[in-house]
Amino acid sequence: MDTNAPRPIGILGGGPAGLSAALWLKNLGFSPWVADPADRSGGMQNLNFLANDWVLGQVGYTGPELAARHADHVRGLGIPLLQGFGPRRIARDDGGFSVVLANGSGETRAERCIALLVATGTRYRGAELLVGVAGIGTLPADRIVYGPYAFSAMEACCGQRLLIVGGGDNAFENARLLLGEARSIDMALRSPPRAQQVLRDAVAGKVRLHPSAVLAAVEADGGAIRATLRTAAGPVVLTVDRIHVLAGYEPNTAFLREIFVPAAAFEFDADGYLKTDAAGRTAVPGIYAAGDVCNPAFPNVVAALAQGARAAKTIELDLRRP
Ligand SMILES: Cc1cc2nc3c(=O)[nH]c(=O)nc-3n(C[C@H](O)[C@H](O)[C@H](O)COP(=O)(O)OP(=O)(O)OC[C@H]3O[C@@H](n4cnc5c(N)ncnc54)[C@H](O)[C@@H]3O)c2cc1C
Repeated sequence: MDTNAPRPIGILGGGPAGLSAALWLKNLGFSPWVADPADRSGGMQNLNFLANDWVLGQVGYTGPELAARHADHVRGLGIPLLQGFGPRRIARDDGGFSVVLANGSGETRAERCIALLVATGTRYRGAELLVGVAGIGTLPADRIVYGPYAFSAMEACCGQRLLIVGGGDNAFENARLLLGEARSIDMALRSPPRAQQVLRDAVAGKVRLHPSAVLAAVEADGGAIRATLRTAAGPVVLTVDRIHVLAGYEPNTAFLREIFVPAAAFEFDADGYLKTDAAGRTAVPGIYAAGDVCNPAFPNVVAALAQGARAAKTIELDLRRP
C-alpha cells in the first residue's frame, strides 16, 4: 500500500462547518477539497450585516469579515475552494465516491474522495412563506423584506410603521434594533416566541405582540399597507409601511435525495435536518455531516466550527490504516 498516496475528502459546503473540517482534515494528513455553489466562501455569515459578538477571541468582526478570515485561513493552506460549484451526481465507487460538480455556466468537473462531509447549512424562508397571503403580489417589492436583508437597510425604517412576521431570535433582534428608528412595531407570531430572553425583554412593552397570528391578507392603501392578521381572537387590521418576514430557516438537504447513484439511505428528522450520530456519522457509511444542516437546536458559528472539527476527527479515526 502506498502510504504517500493522497487521501482526498470531499466537503460539500464552505461555511464555518465545512471550512473548519477542511482545516482539521488537512492537519490530520488528508487532502480535502470544498465545493460550494455560492459566489463567496464563508456561508451564512456573509449575510450577517452586524458584528458577530459570539466567537471567543474574534472581537468586532462583522459576519462577512469573519467569513473572509475563515476562507483566507483555508485558502492559505492550499486547500482547493471550488467556489460556484455544486454537486450534480455522486456515485459510490471502489473505496469512495465519484462526484460530478457543476457551476452556473454549465461547466463541470469530476472529483473523487474516500469520504464525504455534508456541511450545506440552511437557507432562510422567504417569499414562499407568503404565497397564500391574499394580495401579496400587488404590493411594491421594496415594502416586503425577507430574512437577513431586514438588517441591511435600517435607515429605510426611520419613522416607518413596521410589521415583523416571526417570533425567533432574528425577528426579535430586528425589533430591538429598530426600536429607536421605527414609528411603531407590530409583531405577528404564529407560535409562542422562541427568541432568547434577553431579546424578548429588550422589546417588552415597546412593540405590539400579536400571538397566534398569521398574516392573511395585504392591500395597498395609498402609500401604506393594510395588513390583516388572522388571530385566535379574530381578525386584526393594521396599517403599516413595511413588512419584514423573519420566519426561520430550513436545511439544505433536498439534493441528497436526488443525486446519489444508487440512492443513499440518509435519515432525516421531521423538518428535513440530516440525522447523525454523536460523532457526525450519517446513516450512510462514508458520509458525515456537520453544522446547521444537522443542528436545528443550536445553530451558530462556534457550534459549526466545533462540529466540523469533530467530524474531521471522526473521519480520521474511521479511516485509520491497520
Ligand atoms: C443574518 C444572520 C446572522 C447571524 N448571526 C450570528 C451571530 O451573530 N453569531 C453566530 O454565532 N451565528 C450567527 N448566525 C448563524 C451562523 O451564521 C450559522 O449558524 C453558521 O453559519 C452555520 O455554519 P454552517 O457551516 O453549518 O452553514 P452555513 O454557514 O449555512 O454554510 C453552508 C454552506 O453550504 C453551501 N451549500 C448550500 N447547498 C449546497 C450544496 N448542495 N452543495 C454544496 N454546498 C452547498 C452554502 O452556499 C453555504 O456556503 C447568523 C446567521 C444569519 C443568517
